[in-house]
Amino acid sequence: MSRCLSILSIQSFVSRFEDGRQEPALHCMFMSTDLLAEQFDFSAMRRKLKSWYQKHGRELPWRNLEDPYRVWISEIMLQQTTVTAVIPYYERFFKRFPDVRSLAKSDQQDVLALWEGLGYYSRARNLHKAARVIVDVHDGVFPRSAVALQTLPGIGRYTAGAIASFAMGQSAPIVEANTLRLYARLLGMTYDPRTTAGQKLLWDFAEAILPKKNAGDVNQALMDLGSLVCTPQEPDCPNCPLLNFCDAAELGKQAEIPIPKQKTKITELQDICVAIRDGNKVLLRQRQPNERWAGLWDFPRWTSQKTLPKLAVNLLPKASLEQSIIAEIRERTGYEIDHGPLAEVIKHSVTRYRIELFCFTAKKVSGRKKSNEPLEWVPLKELDDRPLSVTGRKFAKRLQSGGLF
Ligand code: SF4
Repeated sequence: MSRCLSILSIQSFVSRFEDGRQEPALHCMFMSTDLLAEQFDFSAMRRKLKSWYQKHGRELPWRNLEDPYRVWISEIMLQQTTVTAVIPYYERFFKRFPDVRSLAKSDQQDVLALWEGLGYYSRARNLHKAARVIVDVHDGVFPRSAVALQTLPGIGRYTAGAIASFAMGQSAPIVEANTLRLYARLLGMTYDPRTTAGQKLLWDFAEAILPKKNAGDVNQALMDLGSLVCTPQEPDCPNCPLLNFCDAAELGKQAEIPIPKQKTKITELQDICVAIRDGNKVLLRQRQPNERWAGLWDFPRWTSQKTLPKLAVNLLPKASLEQSIIAEIRERTGYEIDHGPLAEVIKHSVTRYRIELFCFTAKKVSGRKKSNEPLEWVPLKELDDRPLSVTGRKFAKRLQSGGLF
């Protein structure tokens, strides 16, 4: 039986769900490992990959490093972020925190300040926490196995595999966006690779393809192949070193595999923020652990339930808008304000939200700071020293350029 037919035979035992999803029956999950070894000539695949990687592998600042600290930082930065966006952050980060001890000793605010603009700030908070665990519990030395690495905050199976294989040469598998697509196509997976059974098969494949030694090079070659050749649209199959091993290519199903992720439903929100001035200072609020962008600073901000119904702000009666913002600020900060004009509207997206942020200015008139609120008056010229949310930074730049108060 050809490899294609064998793998297809796994996939013929599928459960069908009401929403049309398919997943192989449970017993097929246990057939996969043996079948993989029978169906793929992994030694030949590795040879082809190696010679392709020598000619075409990407040159990246974090390549060929035996320092788990550097590999770790680069991998965390690269989650949800492009290589081009990461490079300047990576370089700045190592100037400031050259090793795990300097990171562990730092204040979380300094880490967030260096992370500002990269998004997904829990990554930065977890880096800081994990650095402290490495120093306090492991005496500054990274755990030597992928399993032990996964006990650290923010390190999942992929990142642990990357650190263990890239920096320590261990035979630790990886599956991330590029390799998920590549493996799913090599396997000709006609069901969703994100299901439990799909994940099991992908990780088994990722493990089976690795050599016992120098697995880091093979993992990096696989990632590069996924990124440069086995692209989401129009993969360059004629120039792929694994063409002869690829079921999707044999079946002519490259465009259908992998099955795309179900689209996330987007929710539209309208937020309001107010820059309140008192002399040469503005009022900032630190975002709390249960909030988006925890640890960063921002102008007092909230999602509008009633203040701005689904209408353009300039269509609302001005007095009612002003009164509702004044009341909201009183409740949130304890201050009475003299309401100023709409300064700008910033559109941005966060996970499944598309947000329109209405930015107002105001002057403090009276009142006392609410004691349980994390508020602080900060000189306008010192805003650059605070880690701000991306929208907070945009508004801060407008305020610093003058003419808004
Ligand atoms: S042959 Fe085409 S679809 Fe298959 S792994 Fe190579 S680039 Fe991807």
